[in-house]
Amino acid sequence: MNENTNGGKDSVPGAKAQANGNNNHKHNGTCNGSHNGNHDSEIALEAIDGLGISLPRVSGGTVVRGGGLDTLQDLKELDEHGPSFIEPFEPTERLTGDLEQYQRIEKAIHDLLDAFNVNWKDPNYTDTPKRVAKAYMEFWANGYGRQAEDEVTVFPNSSGSGDLVLVKDMKFYSLCSHHLAPFTGYGAIAYIANETLLGLSKLGRILDIYARRFQLQERIGAQTADKLMELLNPRGVMVVLYDVEHLCMSSRGVKLHEASTTTVATRGIFKNEAQLRSEVMSLIKS
Ligand SMILES: [Zn+2]
Repeated sequence: MNENTNGGKDSVPGAKAQANGNNNHKHNGTCNGSHNGNHDSEIALEAIDGLGISLPRVSGGTVVRGGGLDTLQDLKELDEHGPSFIEPFEPTERLTGDLEQYQRIEKAIHDLLDAFNVNWKDPNYTDTPKRVAKAYMEFWANGYGRQAEDEVTVFPNSSGSGDLVLVKDMKFYSLCSHHLAPFTGYGAIAYIANETLLGLSKLGRILDIYARRFQLQERIGAQTADKLMELLNPRGVMVVLYDVEHLCMSSRGVKLHEASTTTVATRGIFKNEAQLRSEVMSLIKS
């Protein structure tokens, strides 16, 4: 076993997004989200009612360009960078990837199982602490060891195009910081470039970096949007995380098991222009 596992460059792009528009919902303080209902458009409609459209489930990975954006020509006066996500507490998480950290995680998992008095002679448990420690470092929390700047390259926007770029249906995996339970869903990232562009596959990479941590759904979207604003200085960014299932919610409570959560993070031009947000939402569900 490689005990010096280091964050890794695993590039699983994909995450469902969640969005916090200007006027829409806030997660209700638990990672369960406040939107209940079935897993289809009805649920999503409640979650994004500020946008007045429904958001059915989608699958696959799709890149969508442009799409009825003539109105953009008239929106320059609205082009501003909205407020960034403010961390209420200093983020101190780290992934050193060194042997000491690995051994501390291994011991923690050992102690957890020991609290249940597992039989360590059972081969189904013997190597579990090592296996779980490796999984945290390699997959579940590898985002702490990755920097977006190391994994993406920006290009000059030589065409000068101000069209919308949207990549949707990116599957993401995360762990809620409230229960350490998995939550998974899909992400869509839209942006309108200024001087620089980002390779399309790299949008999912950035989402993945922020998902593979101990997280809140809305925080993933906010951090992804802020990083894209920082890297590209675009006219705006919109990150939607949708059809997100939180195991901490779905695994308990019969009535909640089909609930899904949608969140939206908007920056720049998307923050003030409802028509543009609606355009993105309709492209996501198309
Ligand atoms: Zn939770």
